[in-house]
Amino acid sequence: MAGAVLPRVIVCGAGLTGLTTAWHLRRLGADVQVIEAGDVVGGVIQSSSIDGYLVEHGPNSCMLTSELAHLVDSLALTPMLRPAAPDAQRRFIVRNGVPIVVPTSPLAMLQSPLFSLAGKLRVLAEPFIARRTAAGDESVAAFVRRRLGNEPLTWAVDPFVSGVYAGDPEQLSVRHAFPRLAALEREHGSLLRGMIAGARRSRAARGQPGITTPRATMVSFVEGLGTLPVALAESIGQERIMRSTRITGMKQVGAMIQLTVETHGERRTLQADVVISTLPLHVLTAMQLPAAVQADVEQLRTVHYPPVASLALGFRRADVAHALDGFGVLIPSAERCNTLGVLFSSTLFDGRAPDDCVLLTCFLGGVRHPELGVASTDDLVTLVQHELAAILGLTGAPTFVHHTVWPRAIPQYGIGHEANARAAERIEAAMPGLLVDGQFRRGVSVGDCVIAGEVIARRAMAHMTRPSPTSIATVADGVAWTPQAAAVGTH
Ligand SMILES: Cc1cc2nc3c(=O)[nH]c(=O)nc-3n(C[C@H](O)[C@H](O)[C@H](O)COP(=O)(O)OP(=O)(O)OC[C@H]3O[C@@H](n4cnc5c(N)ncnc54)[C@H](O)[C@@H]3O)c2cc1C
Repeated sequence: MAGAVLPRVIVCGAGLTGLTTAWHLRRLGADVQVIEAGDVVGGVIQSSSIDGYLVEHGPNSCMLTSELAHLVDSLALTPMLRPAAPDAQRRFIVRNGVPIVVPTSPLAMLQSPLFSLAGKLRVLAEPFIARRTAAGDESVAAFVRRRLGNEPLTWAVDPFVSGVYAGDPEQLSVRHAFPRLAALEREHGSLLRGMIAGARRSRAARGQPGITTPRATMVSFVEGLGTLPVALAESIGQERIMRSTRITGMKQVGAMIQLTVETHGERRTLQADVVISTLPLHVLTAMQLPAAVQADVEQLRTVHYPPVASLALGFRRADVAHALDGFGVLIPSAERCNTLGVLFSSTLFDGRAPDDCVLLTCFLGGVRHPELGVASTDDLVTLVQHELAAILGLTGAPTFVHHTVWPRAIPQYGIGHEANARAAERIEAAMPGLLVDGQFRRGVSVGDCVIAGEVIARRAMAHMTRPSPTSIATVADGVAWTPQAAAVGTH
């Protein structure tokens, strides 16, 4: 391979999706450059140690999928990985102002005060509800109402949707936002039958010698989730990550894609055989793009990213009456509260709060209350303190406050979301060498972004190994971009 000119790839965005994509591309032998507008990597995944608290600005934990476990192992991060405390299995949902444990088995559901007797009987009738035959997309709310009735929608699915998407079940597409749920009906004709079949399959697999199918574990790292993007950047090579550089335009130049970028006010252009956008759609669609793709850009502009505020509050332990013996508490919209949910962060992982203190991470805003996603710190602290006083038994004011605003947090997989993937495909066809991919297309969880990174890297390699030859990068506007020394198979 010595002396060979490697195909050049530019990855736009050093969030988890962009970094995982670049990391796989390096392993596959591509010459990669990552361009990031911020001065740090990780996108929404940021962890900070402040005053004895370990604060997560975005996600607090994630499921250890096999792909994530493999990535963590390849980065030699396994010793830093931490499973969530066993208490994290317990989750609470508020009904009539009281946190109630979410039932996790049919028997527990029958005994739970979360649903009325009529609501429970309706859930038990689910296997007898016929499969949907109508074509077309269906909202999460319509799907749950049809299969399980109103109560599970109001007291379980509505708060769960808030917890994952900060979204509204009436607006999200079940097929796109929760594809596994839709698949249970399609494949088994019933959610309950599908779940029972799945549980049987796992049990049988666990019973076979040599096969271990551990339940998915919720994890973070000793120093928070920010450990993962930092390690990815290190492994990709810091010199390959161009920070504080904002991409402002993209166009086709011959067989290559040309980017216009700005670093500290200085403008220049860069070209590559393949450019991969993992940028949020509101960023991509706001930049200069060729007229030929404008109709599809308009389509992608319709994807809504609601604002979310993450408010990390530290309290003296003695000032919180609740045992905080769980993952956290979600608050259904029927409760007419402003807070969407609260994570019991210092219960989940050790080392998140000083001795005799606890850390609660509160989420506000979303589709339910967009104005609160961008409200002032003082207003939110007052509001949350008032609402949680009754729910968690707060008797004192927070002694620590850290507020992060995500003005456009998570893409909503709305009804007709399929049109967005089609629009992305048409842009890719109109601008060969550009891949428009990432979180809006392949799932929003940390685990989804890790899987997406490998898929996108393989798509890029497939483009580069097409029969038509690709040329090497050139320098435009007289601004030199020194070709990277080709390093292959270093991981
Ligand atoms: C508040 C919050 C809580 C969450 N909680 C969880 C959770 O508990 N568990 C879970 O699994 N998932 C959670 N998620 C979802 C998950 O964290 C994200 O989906 C994932 O991290 C997104 O990664 P990404 O790389 O696709 O996007 P991003 O992290 O948004 O990265 C995009 C990158 O592009 C950069 N960029 C933007 N504009 C430009 C430009 N013009 N030029 C160059 N670069 C640019 C940005 O600076 C950023 O670094 C949460 C998300 C949020 C917002």
